[in-house]
Amino acid sequence: MTIDLKNLTIKKAHDSFVKGEYSAVDLASAYLEQIKKEDKNIHSYLEVFSDVIEQAKKADEKIKSGKAGILTGIPIAIKDNILIKGRKASSASKILENYTATYDATVIEKLKNEGVVFIGRTNMDEFAMGGSTENSAYGPTKNPYDLERVPGGSSGGSAASVAGNMALVALGSDTGGSIRQPASFCGIVGLKPTYGAVSRYGVMAMGSSLDQIGPFGKTVEDAEILFDAIKGQDKMDSTTLPNLENKKKVESKKLAIGVPRDFLKIGGIDKDIIKNFEESLDKLKKLGHEIVDIELPNLKYSLAVYYVIVPAEVSSNMARYDGMRYGKRVSGATGIEDYFLSRQAGLGREVKRRIILGTYVLSSGYYDAYYNKANIVREIIKEDYKKAFKKVDIIITPTTPGPAFKIGEKVDDPLQMYLEDIFTVPINLAGVPAISVPFGSKKVNDKALPLGIQLIADHGNEEVLFTLGKHLEEK
Ligand code: GLN
Repeated sequence: MTIDLKNLTIKKAHDSFVKGEYSAVDLASAYLEQIKKEDKNIHSYLEVFSDVIEQAKKADEKIKSGKAGILTGIPIAIKDNILIKGRKASSASKILENYTATYDATVIEKLKNEGVVFIGRTNMDEFAMGGSTENSAYGPTKNPYDLERVPGGSSGGSAASVAGNMALVALGSDTGGSIRQPASFCGIVGLKPTYGAVSRYGVMAMGSSLDQIGPFGKTVEDAEILFDAIKGQDKMDSTTLPNLENKKKVESKKLAIGVPRDFLKIGGIDKDIIKNFEESLDKLKKLGHEIVDIELPNLKYSLAVYYVIVPAEVSSNMARYDGMRYGKRVSGATGIEDYFLSRQAGLGREVKRRIILGTYVLSSGYYDAYYNKANIVREIIKEDYKKAFKKVDIIITPTTPGPAFKIGEKVDDPLQMYLEDIFTVPINLAGVPAISVPFGSKKVNDKALPLGIQLIADHGNEEVLFTLGKHLEEK
């Protein structure tokens, strides 16, 4: 029997399991088959687990006994910086090449309770630093829409696995766009939840004040189902928040949608992106929503602020990878030499660049000039959103300034790469939730490259993202 993986959703798969049209084993086998065929070209996985069929058998037992939840038997791919007990987790770094997780991340524990089927761990930029998956120590992932292009990053492997029909849904992490940007490049949905909505326990920290775990799916509904399964307060992560749900209920069908026109005039944005964006506004207007011009005057400082705060947090978070506690160790003549040699051999260029930058901005002579100032401006950016959400229910922008770029195009120019994050980074600084929904495409040569629209809501208001996201994806 052939299962139409391309048009499959969680609900469709669940219905088929319950009706007995096919089993979780059948579905898992279909994905494994697709991986065998496609992943040598795409390289979305660093490892496909050897016990996928056994996991699916267990899910089938649960289904047969009538105890299946909506996610039971659903095949899912996991970014390589999220811990699954007893399995390798490397963050696509050489330094953790042989590291095996000793416990489950909270999100994994929750998914295990649902009875999902973990297909494998996906490729990423090393320790989630990057926007193209080219910073993986294990080679880049390719975009399923054009193998010469990047899938985005840092969660590029997760996005490509879903877009390439090699998993039904996936988890990624987003510190400055790492779920939304690859979702946009790969034509799928990606959600960065409110900071504190999802536990970070068991996720390798990059920028702890910005990191969030979130779902990838082909539809808004799939992202919503997965988000509902992983969210919630967790005693293992004191930054998780209670009762975030739906502070502002979406009562009316007509939403006020804010467009930060000035912010969109920032240089370097592809004309076709703006055209496509205007088309998305037209569609939403036709559906009865109101488009309102808003100002977010301090968002232009976001990238500068982000690239001070992130390296600062990175330099501190990366200190634990010293060749003593985890993973790779290169022995020298003294203990301190072990430390230098292990980090030298184990960490890649972008990670080193950020450690150096972060150590600099945190050093006593520059702390006030950079790190403190960045934190002050961060508060001002938060205020911008606060003011805007008094006026509108939701804010809309493109997800990225252009479609997927070519492999090698930006990798030697970190500033160009950082500019990719112009629309996604401010959201993490403010801690608000945002979703990227596929909308339109740009024809380049003979390939139609997918584009994404980003919807942004106030803290805890994911529901409004799902509501409008569904409108945007209506055919
Ligand atoms: N591309 C951004 C960066 O390199 C975002 C990364 C992320 O969200 N993990 O920092």
